[in-house]
Amino acid sequence: MPIDTLISAESIRARVDELGRQITSDYAGQEIVVVTVLKGSFIFAADLVRAIDVPLAVDFLGLRSYEGTESSGVVQITSDLTKSVEGKHVLVVEDIVDTGLTMQYLLQNLETRKPASVKLASLLHKPARSKVKIPIDYLGFTIDDVFVIGYGLDFDQHYRNLPYLGVMRPD
Ligand code: 5GP
Repeated sequence: MPIDTLISAESIRARVDELGRQITSDYAGQEIVVVTVLKGSFIFAADLVRAIDVPLAVDFLGLRSYEGTESSGVVQITSDLTKSVEGKHVLVVEDIVDTGLTMQYLLQNLETRKPASVKLASLLHKPARSKVKIPIDYLGFTIDDVFVIGYGLDFDQHYRNLPYLGVMRPD
């Protein structure tokens, strides 16, 4: 299936560098724990942490949301963090906030672990599909209601390795 470029690798790189600079300045003098939400965020997180210049630890969290045609908000943690985040400054790194239900669950779950603070970095946001308001502290790009692939995001586990963000063109 042909793929149209939505956001080029160059544009992603430039935006990720900007976010990295902003995060570096906001967290100056502090240490953070970067919580990467698997699987879709692994490439964004890998690039973002290299653009951040404060001491940080990286941890990973696997989530599965039960879906019919769209996110139900029923979310399961398939793989949990390896270390407690109590008293830590947590930066959650997500690929895309769509309905927002997945992030609503995760942010509430993290709050119960008593971190010093929790902020969210999301590469993408689809406001047209938003069901709950999620504060995104560091947002890469706002996009229309299209299904995106590449740069970590999949269609049926494929296309995560595309270096850009694309949209499949139905022929
Ligand atoms: P939400 O709970 O916000 O509706 O769903 C968020 C999750 O749905 C994302 O982390 C991602 O896994 C998946 N998702 C939502 N929109 C897209 C999209 O356009 N492309 C891909 N590949 N996944 C998406």
